Amino acid sequence: MSNGGEASGLGEKMYELASRLYPICRSITGEGVRRSLEIIKELIPLEIKEVATGTKVFDWTVPNEWNLEEAWIKDASGNKIVDVSRHNLHILNYSAPFSGTVSLEQLKPHIYTIPEQPDLIPYRTSYYEEKWGFCMSHTQFAQLEEGEYEVLITSSLKPGALTYGEYYLPGRSKQEFLLSTHICHPSLANDNLSGMSLMTYLATLLRGQNHRYSYRFLFIPGTIGSITWLATNELHLTNIVGGLVTSLVGDGAPFHFKKTPDGGTELDKVVELVLNESPLKHEILDFVPYGYDERQFCSPGINLDMGCLSRSTYGSFPEYHTSADNLNFIKAQHLRESLEVMQRIVEVWELNATYINTNPKCEPQMGKRGLYAAIGGASDKEILQMGMLWVLHQSNGCRSLIDISKRAGIPFDVIVKASNLLLAGQLLKSTESS
Ligand code: ZN
Repeated sequence: MSNGGEASGLGEKMYELASRLYPICRSITGEGVRRSLEIIKELIPLEIKEVATGTKVFDWTVPNEWNLEEAWIKDASGNKIVDVSRHNLHILNYSAPFSGTVSLEQLKPHIYTIPEQPDLIPYRTSYYEEKWGFCMSHTQFAQLEEGEYEVLITSSLKPGALTYGEYYLPGRSKQEFLLSTHICHPSLANDNLSGMSLMTYLATLLRGQNHRYSYRFLFIPGTIGSITWLATNELHLTNIVGGLVTSLVGDGAPFHFKKTPDGGTELDKVVELVLNESPLKHEILDFVPYGYDERQFCSPGINLDMGCLSRSTYGSFPEYHTSADNLNFIKAQHLRESLEVMQRIVEVWELNATYINTNPKCEPQMGKRGLYAAIGGASDKEILQMGMLWVLHQSNGCRSLIDISKRAGIPFDVIVKASNLLLAGQLLKSTESS
């Protein structure tokens, strides 16, 4: 958590990636998604995958692919009063094509605004109901004059594919940690460019390391993307032993961790430990079947041990799904902090293990195994010795090092160090076969 120099440079790079992705008109399908994934592929060897329109995925069907060329409204004098080339949020995402001249009364039902935030453009979608529309500030809407308006939307809704990115980083074990972020929002920075940037840079850092677990990164459109991935990878899910959905990690709000549905899994314990030891504020939230793609990953028939990590929470901040969730709303520093927290989560996840005491009948003789000598000169000698006693006492094959750290009131890193000494002295054995 402390490699300040390198990590601060990474915050800037994360912000830069978000800035490159910001102008692209993304949706749940289409060229915008492909172009965004190609940019991420410059940094990590992402596999870009496509699932054809019409593919049945559980109760859903992969929709037609949406692409947009132009979208504008001209007033009676021929001025473009709204133009998607000025802001991607001006188009109702997945809007049907339209071309024609309409009166103000005919135009109004096709315009979306936020009267309570009159200066912001809302983000609205219509994926599963085919209609045309625009979004604009309520201030502008209120000033529209009677008269004729020329409207053009050159969008297409045709059979194509749903595109997503996947990066699998093999570890020593086939057991996997799954990391997922949504990629379908156009020109919104915290939701979802911050998550895309965090996942990309976490992957660049994990790439060069030797890990115990395998890591799988998914860059997928929200809801339909996770449903599609789960439906087409169902046989493979047994390898997944934990994971996180992440988004909203570029603002300065306290961290929020939404637990797994039952709570109390190793994933819950790891994230809670990392947030508790961080100097940054945080809050732990119980699972609710509403929010991001943890809804799908934790659905009863899938039931993965996954939580959701964010700064602000889903739908809870005034900039959410508006033009104010822009590149001024996220900061390199906050992105860097989120990356550091995520790196520590992975580190603790890797180190957390469950052992069996090989000599459980009375205390083993530590001296003859050289274990007292091994810690003789350590500055934390006393706490380390207590840590060894606790690890020996508690390692019954069920309790993890995090459980032992909590029970003993000894920092996790000391418990890990104690367990490594005991492993070297052959007083512990692993519960894993791999
Ligand atoms: Zn969103």
